[in-house]
Amino acid sequence: FLPHLVASLEQVDVTYIMIKPDGVQRGLVGEIISRFEKKGFKLTGLKLFQCPKELAEEHYKDLSSKSFFPSLIEYITSGPVVCMAWEGVGVVASARKLIGATNPLQAEPGTIRGDLAVQTGRNVVHGSDSPENGKREIGLWFNEVEVIEWTPAQAPWLME
Ligand code: GDP
Ligand code: MG
Repeated sequence: FLPHLVASLEQVDVTYIMIKPDGVQRGLVGEIISRFEKKGFKLTGLKLFQCPKELAEEHYKDLSSKSFFPSLIEYITSGPVVCMAWEGVGVVASARKLIGATNPLQAEPGTIRGDLAVQTGRNVVHGSDSPENGKREIGLWFNEVEVIEWTPAQAPWLME
């Protein structure tokens, strides 16, 4: 019986966070992971990965009609990305806030994009936009054995 796991009636969600090739090339991996870690979310999946074109197209399929789609696919496949699965109450919306607006010039200071980027086409990080897409994207980017079920030691100090 783990009281901290059942005490909250709030929904535990999962989100897919990805450090894009510019974030990896610019040496921002530690900095970006740190922000989610310090907030208190639980890391359940993590890998460095060279994304094939087909996966990038599937991930961004809703944007396939946009004029920037070919350059977006080229960008995402241009070098290694860091794929992450994060879990927690309200993690999807909270991660979007930590990431900031799509256009880094409009992203608030204190957000990842607001602090670390200047252009929409080089905005260093991805975060799922809904709990449904969180599940979908984690299924897309990770194998079952790569997502780990575990209880962080800090759990009872993070949530009553
Ligand atoms: P996000 O959810 O904040 O990442 O934004 P979207 O889902 O709308 O777009 C996905 C990604 O496509 C963005 O993070 C950008 O990398 C890219 N993107 C979106 N809009 C534009 C644009 O107008 N120009 C370019 N070059 N890239 C864009
Ligand atoms: Mg999006």
